[in-house]
Amino acid sequence: MNALIDTLRPNGLDPAEDVLLAWLKTTDEAAVAQLYQAAFRIKNEQSGPGIFLRGLMEISNQCQKNCLYCGIRHQNEATLRYDLPESDILALGHKAAELGYASIVLQGGERVDNKFVSKITRLLQGLKNIELKRGVDGGARKPHQAKGLGITLSLGEQTEEVYREWYEAGAHRYLLRIESSDPELYGKIHPQDKLHTYQRRIEALQSLRRVGYQVGTGVMIGLPFQTEEHLVKDLLFFKHLDIDMCGMGPYIPHHDTPLAVYADKIPSPERRLDLSIRMVALLRMLMPNINIAATTALQVLSDRGRELAIEAGANVVMPNLTDLLYRSNYDLYDGKPGASVDADLTDSPFARYLQERNIPILRGEWGDSMHYFARQRG
Ligand code: SAM
Ligand code: SF4
Repeated sequence: MNALIDTLRPNGLDPAEDVLLAWLKTTDEAAVAQLYQAAFRIKNEQSGPGIFLRGLMEISNQCQKNCLYCGIRHQNEATLRYDLPESDILALGHKAAELGYASIVLQGGERVDNKFVSKITRLLQGLKNIELKRGVDGGARKPHQAKGLGITLSLGEQTEEVYREWYEAGAHRYLLRIESSDPELYGKIHPQDKLHTYQRRIEALQSLRRVGYQVGTGVMIGLPFQTEEHLVKDLLFFKHLDIDMCGMGPYIPHHDTPLAVYADKIPSPERRLDLSIRMVALLRMLMPNINIAATTALQVLSDRGRELAIEAGANVVMPNLTDLLYRSNYDLYDGKPGASVDADLTDSPFARYLQERNIPILRGEWGDSMHYFARQRG
């Protein structure tokens, strides 16, 4: 096992690109199983045995952008648009607190108009006033948890001023995927206009860092035109950006998007799942103390998608709190889990799986990235 870890962390340095490439390509199943065990062990050592929760709210599918892969892109006229009223979002905040989800994620299409920006600011102030009811595993709330819900935003590219306004209103983590760290591939999966440049995305990530957020990013895996070499570069990009959190998962075509014409040219669902899980394990080896999500898209490719990611070192899951009425219109890709996936994990196959393996669900915990605190300490 040590020899395996040594290939990925030679003398504490970044591994060579060809080592990472070999891990993505190998057909040696026993070695891959060892990699997963090592990543799982490192996750346990660094962030403990439990899994952190974030209650996901898909607050709006209105979007100014036209990313070529996304089902809710502006030009998709087949999408029925919604924008959850503030009262509904606050009600979801209360639901999260009732369920013991001490952290939530507000995700939505990208909007930059003043009305939207101030709505989010007001919401953050309201959500921060919601008291947590439960501590870990449903027990009494601990004194240090008196600070209310932990809030992550995932609302696309904004100006640094807006990011600061939202940070000061109570958000403290932000997810903005780089989608692909390769500028050329980024260009192929986005329209060629000023709204969709690689440079804008990088600058937004830098702004988030300057404002003080715990910064999360990620990529889609199995995109058209993407090779394993791109994925290796993505892993090293995460390391060099020194990210605190990562959410990455398989690309899944949406029939009403321009990129869907390449659907028969992407890796098989099995390979996209396999690559996604390997990426989780390799990132855990490279960045032992960051938060890594077992993402929803994995579930489309396998009922056990999230479990596999956890066994390979993921430590965060994001149960969807959004009402089913709206959820079906947050239609990013074909086959997105809907009615069958319940927000309350108490009596689900997933909860039973965790219970059988003695993996606690950490209710009542914010579950911040240990990496962030290490970074703060210098
Ligand atoms: N609009 C914000 C943004 O783009 O950052 C947040 C919402 S966006 C829907 C969240 C993520 O969904 C994107 O970062 C992208 O990686 C993912 N996504 C969109 N279409 C997808 C697809 N067809 N397959 C897999 N993931 C997809
Ligand atoms: Fe809009 Fe985000 Fe979808 Fe791009 S990925 S079209 S920004 S919702």
